[in-house]
Amino acid sequence: MSVVWTVKAVSLGLVTFSLSVELLCWLRRRLRPRKTINEVLFFPSEMACVEHIFNPTSRFTCLCQLPHGVETSFSRLLSHILSASSSLDLCIFAFSNMDLSRAVLALKSKGVIIRVLTDKDYAAIKGSQTGVLRKAGICVRCNVGSVYMHHKFAVVDGRLLITGSLNWTLTAVQANMENIIVTEEPDLLRPFMEEFNRLWVVYDPAQYHCSSDQRPSHNSSL
Ligand SMILES: [Zn+2]
Repeated sequence: MSVVWTVKAVSLGLVTFSLSVELLCWLRRRLRPRKTINEVLFFPSEMACVEHIFNPTSRFTCLCQLPHGVETSFSRLLSHILSASSSLDLCIFAFSNMDLSRAVLALKSKGVIIRVLTDKDYAAIKGSQTGVLRKAGICVRCNVGSVYMHHKFAVVDGRLLITGSLNWTLTAVQANMENIIVTEEPDLLRPFMEEFNRLWVVYDPAQYHCSSDQRPSHNSSL
């Protein structure tokens, strides 16, 4: 009888030990501080399919001719943009890239609050996504005056800054030599956020009319 109890006690001890180890590992994973994002991406980006970025859980097999399963500068950029869960503030001179437009529209459909500041001259040219964004109900404001709104930065969820030379165009992504920095450093993020909010007020269409492809609506949702 004592042998049976000894076996039971040992078994119980082993199970307890095993569970304790599991628990400790789980706690270690949960309590480990998340690595701050600091990343530099260079362009032109390698050409590759990005369908899996838009549909990461889909079983759909894309049959396009581009390489699949390849991580590129552009796929990294798209992933960072699509990581937005609450807000996206975009301050960009030229925005005509269809994949980036698709990403912004996907965020809009998820309920992410999106604000776009762009250049009035570029917004008026053929291929600009400004009209597409506005038709989707996204707030787009343009600069006024004779100088360019030449910034190229985005702030994701008020935590992630994406900035550099890259315009959101196909040429910039696939042909030009460009760079972007992706960072969660608060000291870098803060002034960009402040500048965005400042320009957002300066270019409030309640004060100015934007000479782009669409007239502002009366509820100033442009
Ligand atoms: Zn594909």
